[in-house]
Amino acid sequence: MTYSYLSHLECSRTGERYDADEVQGVSRVGAPLLVRYDLEAARGAVSRDEVERRPHDLWRYHELLPVRDARHVTTLGEGMTPLLPMTTYGSQVGIPHLLMKDEGLVPTGSFKARGAAVGVSRARELGVKAVAMPTNGNAGAAWSVYAARAGLGSLIVMPQDAPEITRRECVVSGAELYLVDGLINHAGALVKAAVEQRTGYQEVSTLKEPYRIEGKKTMGYEIAEQLGWQVPDVILYPAGGGVGLIGIHKAMLEMQQLGWIGDKLPRLVAVQAEGCRPIVDAFEQGKDESELKDGTHTLAFGINVPKALGDFLVLQAVRESGGTAVAVTDDDILAELATLAAAEGSWVCPEGAACFAAARRLREDGWIREDEQVVVLNTGTGLKYPETVGVVVPVLARDGQVPAR
Ligand SMILES: *Cc1c(COP(=O)(O)O)cnc(C)c1O
Repeated sequence: MTYSYLSHLECSRTGERYDADEVQGVSRVGAPLLVRYDLEAARGAVSRDEVERRPHDLWRYHELLPVRDARHVTTLGEGMTPLLPMTTYGSQVGIPHLLMKDEGLVPTGSFKARGAAVGVSRARELGVKAVAMPTNGNAGAAWSVYAARAGLGSLIVMPQDAPEITRRECVVSGAELYLVDGLINHAGALVKAAVEQRTGYQEVSTLKEPYRIEGKKTMGYEIAEQLGWQVPDVILYPAGGGVGLIGIHKAMLEMQQLGWIGDKLPRLVAVQAEGCRPIVDAFEQGKDESELKDGTHTLAFGINVPKALGDFLVLQAVRESGGTAVAVTDDDILAELATLAAAEGSWVCPEGAACFAAARRLREDGWIREDEQVVVLNTGTGLKYPETVGVVVPVLARDGQVPAR
């Protein structure tokens, strides 16, 4: 039995082919490499019914993932997160068929675990000794945790003000961690220089290694499977590097070729924060690429990416699918986070809350219609961002009383 139908890598700008069985970074023109499979052969070898009988993690799609030998799979049980109806909140905002794909339940508390599981597994299979990356926190945490499980080393550099908990995740899993007085692009330059000095290290920055997209694309496979092999009308995604959005679009196109879904594509919405909206600006200006912005800021740290390497792929996916791009303020994010938790009991991350705020806005504008099925991706748990909730509670004296109601 063939575990993976991995065929080759392809430059996302020129279409040039690259060998998938060597360690690869970006293409000769500096563009991300996309993973290609022999989908014809996979189509004959695996059916939707068979997938449905497999264990509930993302490796149920292993024919469409890049790890060739099951023995190299490094897993902590990631994937097959719930797709929850948000009935109360949905009716408040006029989208009764609103669903949340809740990535807060993944190991490490963010969907970065999907990319890390697949990326680390493949790195191990190809003989890499250690991984190195700049991060806004969650990716570094996920990659160092999976690297530890795979027996690989990790070198992580993150901005000083990245969520504190992600530092601790790196430290507890034995990563070599540095903080930088700057943004993720500054961390990136430091990592690049360090990797040039070291042997056995692979730079695994966002889209500078090919396999992270493959892990994140499984969200697209899962959404279709969980809806009975149908796709929703709209999917909202908090776009930083945009890997998940590119991945979900890739998953949809692959599933069409596999004959698993029909012609319809979900309209993909790239959601950003007002303090960091390069992709939204490019979308509104009809451009194919975004411009590097200085001094970007938002409390939704995972989407504070001033210039994404794959910005053109995000814009392509949004346009090809008939989607759009929206920015929301940090105030909107915090307000939506509180509204959602009160209505549904779900404490989402600020990036997820941004998508709910965007859904509300797009419904008000009429871009989302009342009868449409809409999926919001909550990319992490609110527990990783305790400062998003202010707490003022009365302290009772030992011999005091709880106030009467
Ligand atoms: C990284 C991250 C994002 C953005 O993901 P990209 O794939 O880089 O666009 C969104 N939410 C959270 C919680 C993240 O950690």
